[in-house]
Amino acid sequence: MTTPLKPFTEEQLTSLNDEHLAKIFLESLSSYENKERLFGLLDMLHHYRRFASRLTSEKRRVANNNEADKIFDEVQEQVNTFLYTKGCRMPVRPIPVNRAYLRAKYGTNTGAYDCLLGKIFYADDSTIDELPEILGHEFTHYIQALSGMFSQTTTLFQEGCARGVERQIAELNAKRFDPQEYNTSFLRRHIDEIENTLDIHRRYQEWFSPSLPHTWPFMKHDLGNALFYLAEAKHGKRIYADVLRGDFSSILG
Ligand SMILES: [Zn+2]
Repeated sequence: MTTPLKPFTEEQLTSLNDEHLAKIFLESLSSYENKERLFGLLDMLHHYRRFASRLTSEKRRVANNNEADKIFDEVQEQVNTFLYTKGCRMPVRPIPVNRAYLRAKYGTNTGAYDCLLGKIFYADDSTIDELPEILGHEFTHYIQALSGMFSQTTTLFQEGCARGVERQIAELNAKRFDPQEYNTSFLRRHIDEIENTLDIHRRYQEWFSPSLPHTWPFMKHDLGNALFYLAEAKHGKRIYADVLRGDFSSILG
């Protein structure tokens, strides 16, 4: 599969704001006829329908503190091992994880990494099914902060990277357990974000209209996810270790 990404220069990546980065990415998508196929959307929908109908009520149960701690230990191990085997050898100190009501403070109902407090939070109603990906995502933001990536890149780029690592966790768990246990909450979110990206592309001018500023924060996850999805398809899973080591060349072209 080829990627529609036009090369970003180092200067663009560090100096362009998210809006410009998004515009360049959306323009590059225009040259592709079948964008659904480019993103494997039909396959994802097929998997989602298959697995969603088999999800057990046990997996939909809200995780208690002990279960969440155990899941977080496993996720840290999985993310660290994944990045290490792909060439990112940065030492990662353990970090506290806390249950919290998040919407008021962080505007999210899933998870958050607070770099000022140095803590990861997860929503108090997180289910066993969705916690590995939520914690994998926030743990990636923590590693981004350690690596200095926060100061080198924009939010769209950081969210895309975190979504990509989150996808590795979902795939690892799907392989480790029965494939029927493939994380449907992750798949649903991923499908929604790819569909949003295609919708944003269709409504390109409208989405960048100043009259819709409230939509912009959500686009960063959608477009970042799509950006890294295509870069991974072209260059493989090493892209996450590369960017966390400060090497952006695989995303740049
Ligand atoms: Zn994030």
